[in-house]
Amino acid sequence: MMGPRQVAQGALFYEFSIEDHVPADHLLRKINRFLDLSDIRSFLAPYYSHQGRPSIDPELMIRMLLLGCAMGIRSERRLCDEVHLNLAYRWFCRLDLTDPIPDHSTFSKNRHGRFRDSDLFRHLFETVLARCIAEGLVGGEAFGVDASIVQADAKRLNKVEAAGWTPERITRATNEYFETLDDAAFGDATPVKPKVLSPVDPAARFTGAKKAYSIFAYSTNYLVDLENAVIVDVETTAPIRQAEVNAALDMVDRVEERFGLYPERFVGDGAYGNAETLGWLVHEKGIEPHVPVLDKSSRFNQTFSRADFQFDHIKDRYLCPGGKELLTSRRQFQTIRPQVKDDETVRYRSLKSDCDTCELKYRCCPKTPTRAVTRSIHEGARDMARAIAETDAFVASRRARRKVEMLFAHMKKIMGLDRLRLRGPNGAKDEFTMAATAQNLRKMAKLLPEPV
Ligand code: SF4
Repeated sequence: MMGPRQVAQGALFYEFSIEDHVPADHLLRKINRFLDLSDIRSFLAPYYSHQGRPSIDPELMIRMLLLGCAMGIRSERRLCDEVHLNLAYRWFCRLDLTDPIPDHSTFSKNRHGRFRDSDLFRHLFETVLARCIAEGLVGGEAFGVDASIVQADAKRLNKVEAAGWTPERITRATNEYFETLDDAAFGDATPVKPKVLSPVDPAARFTGAKKAYSIFAYSTNYLVDLENAVIVDVETTAPIRQAEVNAALDMVDRVEERFGLYPERFVGDGAYGNAETLGWLVHEKGIEPHVPVLDKSSRFNQTFSRADFQFDHIKDRYLCPGGKELLTSRRQFQTIRPQVKDDETVRYRSLKSDCDTCELKYRCCPKTPTRAVTRSIHEGARDMARAIAETDAFVASRRARRKVEMLFAHMKKIMGLDRLRLRGPNGAKDEFTMAATAQNLRKMAKLLPEPV
């Protein structure tokens, strides 16, 4: 029997509670347990005027932005539509059925104004991280570090010559470009100046690191506690190795300063294995470097590499394969000369008289009268990293480092952050910081079940 036709009829009174309609196991319910925004209003109070129209509640905007990040809703227009229509989203934003949704333009006005002036997103990230630490999710023993390239909101074919470029139109992104020219994370990341730049986001670097084709991009850098893959710090840089390495070291310092977290092991890929970084980790911080050593001393022309020379710590000398010694100096100078070169290396040389009569000369220094071997002043730290690389602990660290890569994959595939929506270094920083905050919230929601 066919049922009666369903006709929409407006009831005079409703008894409806959004609270009852959001399932107990909904992700947003789990996230909400760990989201404490009680100090947001007092934190932002100095940035609001005492006069004029009342603003949109900042807590509502933050809840909406976090919701967008957690659920992969990138567009703020769409976010407003989704919150308008979805009951669970309304519940998370603490809106009733009839409460109005803020206009999408409110977000950009606040982001470029008081949110950036107060560094609200960083405050939010640290608040959530403090909760992760309080819940016991951060072990603090091993930190993994990595960087991931994210395409900027700039078309790869829309590029101009960087030399002598002046903007046709002054925008927020062009202003940020000029402001960050001397910043080691962006304009001053490398002495090599870019050949081309994007006129719409000039601080983004044109990079071919993604192999497929070159794009304008920024890098997001994560420092992750490897016990539960909680992000303990996030930093934005140009997609340049040196900038990423510097960011990693800054993050280690900052986490120690803010939260007293001091890892025993630092786990990274070969990009973090240069001599200065290893020296800093071992000698200044006392942290075990679980990092492959970046070593370019191997020779591929059949002549002896540095590894064929043995270093004698006690006598501060190298012994060559012919058994002769290589020294830094053989004369007593009246004024002591500096042994360390500008590139932080010390040079050891053989004696010409030894090499002239040596049978191995054709395999050692066939084109020069003597052989020289350079040694980094951080070679002790490099030796330590080499020794660690032979252990089972290193294999375990290398496996654990995949957790960092998984976080980047999650950020791009699930949260949809494979291309930035905002322009300029500050826009990239806002998006990356919010994404890391949302990932930590999701982590707590996943790992910490609700008490029964
Ligand atoms: S050539 Fe000189 S440095 Fe090389 S193995 Fe012979 S003695 Fe040693």
